[in-house]
Amino acid sequence: MKNDIILRGIAASPGIAIGPAFIYEDNGIYSSRFDKRVDDIEKESNRFKKAIEKSKKELAGIKRNLTKKLGFAKANFLDAQLLVLEDQWFIDKVSDKIRKEKKNAAGAVLEINRELLTKFREINNPYLKERLSDIKDVTKRVIKNLSKGEERRINLPQKMIILVAENLSPSDTAQLEKETVLAFLTDLGGKTSHTAIMARALEIPAVVGLREITKNIYPGVKIIVDGYVGIVVVNPTEKFLRNYEKKKIHLLNIEKELLGLNELSATTVDGHTVDLSANIEFTKDIESAKKHGAKDIGLYRTEFLYLTQNGLPDEELEYKTYKEVVDKIYPETVIFRTLDIGGDKLFTDIPEELNPFLGWRAIRFFLIKQDIFRKQLEAILKASYRKNVRIMFPMMTDIEELRKAKKILREVADKLEKKGLDFDRKIEIGIMVEVPSCAILANEFAKETDFFSIGTNDLTQYLLAVDRTNEYVASLYDHLHPAVLRTIKTIVDAAHRNRKWVGICGEMAGDPLAIPILLGLGIDELSATPIVIPEVKKVIRTLSMKESKKIAKKCLAFSTAKEVRNFLKEIINTKLPIIRELIFGGIEN
Ligand code: PEP
Ligand code: MG
Repeated sequence: MKNDIILRGIAASPGIAIGPAFIYEDNGIYSSRFDKRVDDIEKESNRFKKAIEKSKKELAGIKRNLTKKLGFAKANFLDAQLLVLEDQWFIDKVSDKIRKEKKNAAGAVLEINRELLTKFREINNPYLKERLSDIKDVTKRVIKNLSKGEERRINLPQKMIILVAENLSPSDTAQLEKETVLAFLTDLGGKTSHTAIMARALEIPAVVGLREITKNIYPGVKIIVDGYVGIVVVNPTEKFLRNYEKKKIHLLNIEKELLGLNELSATTVDGHTVDLSANIEFTKDIESAKKHGAKDIGLYRTEFLYLTQNGLPDEELEYKTYKEVVDKIYPETVIFRTLDIGGDKLFTDIPEELNPFLGWRAIRFFLIKQDIFRKQLEAILKASYRKNVRIMFPMMTDIEELRKAKKILREVADKLEKKGLDFDRKIEIGIMVEVPSCAILANEFAKETDFFSIGTNDLTQYLLAVDRTNEYVASLYDHLHPAVLRTIKTIVDAAHRNRKWVGICGEMAGDPLAIPILLGLGIDELSATPIVIPEVKKVIRTLSMKESKKIAKKCLAFSTAKEVRNFLKEIINTKLPIIRELIFGGIEN
């Protein structure tokens, strides 16, 4: 293999890591059962046969549906997968493993799948390489049908690796441990996908959207990952390695220096203070939020408890989890966002959809599945006994949704009151403003809520019609687009007109480039992933409100995202060289 192969992707999580590649095949489910031997060979062979038949039926059903929706030509790619299920070589090989080696069926399928993939990788034929994904998909389906009811666990070696995968789901990413996964790289993905957000929360460097890295590298090859700027160097020479080691130490020193701002408030040079808070997914993230100098928790993404459980959490566990957050953050505050599943956060109760981001997501799911909604509201209310809790509904599109959600919340509160439980009857109720219709009706929404938190990740996606997880359109996804900026101004003005506070909890709140504009627009709160909080604080403490207002005015008048970006880069370059190094890579290689 050639040396110093440079690949460019999307910088998803900062940090530099160097290590051997481990190519991860997503088999849909992992459990310790893969290694288990079986005694009853007949029973296991029958299970395998049934799983094959079930998978065939499922595929035939999907093909029928797709043919109706998209036509025959678009649906017949599934034939390749059906062929694998009928392939005698595949069936015999798996059956042999079960019979001769007493392997359990899922483990046998997994091993034969690995053999097949290795063979296909060695063939230098683009058509056959394309079939790799069919083999992977179909294996995943068979294993899923063999593993019903088991908890999904990601299967990785217990040694230090750079994880390379076609894609990683947010809940799989949540299981990664930074002690062994030095960094991860994926073919798919965008900067604000929940997988990227999770990488930043876990402080694991990551580059996503590399398109074909899984097909173009070999297991074990040394890799440098530069998660600051989204560069990957495969098979580096000594010279490259030395440069990167130096760069790593230099940037770590900058990060350490910024941590020195920890105890200070996020106050501009002319005395204006912003509430700088943290976004978290798990209770343990509170440590990181505090370490990085966050004040409150501005967004607790409650869905991760559901995703890692692969189903509904036990009521007691849910309440205890929220209570722990409340107790740990007290006397500061926490905003619990009610369950926001759907989109790229797949959930067992949501069927496969053609457009999941436009589908049965967040509050839309909850207003139908009211029993689950009521249980979650009850757990949050019970945890509000210290009166430091706020509640927030995601993906509001229509005021009717808000009224329904508030009515259900009132009913749950009445029930708790009757039981004599101690909770905050006057809990503040806010909404995520992340859908254009909600932004346009911000004035009306503001009258019926206590606060707004702008979800710029979705707002950008829905305003610009760019899927936030799709690497092919990633260059069109930009929260600095003037259309996004002008919409934010509309939302902030509407909130303030109605004397309500307004924050931002999308990734934009952690983008140093965006901070001058957000300050200038009068945002009251910024809530970001813990690791970027020191940078954001540095920017705030360097600027004045007076100059931020001027910057915001200027940016709002631009007509392209590129003009906004260039203008802001210039400001960061001249006023904040330390931040420039972190976000633009500072050192040349
Ligand atoms: C957002 O959309 O900006 C947001 C904060 O929510 P999520 O990223 O979880 O969709
Ligand atoms: Mg959102």
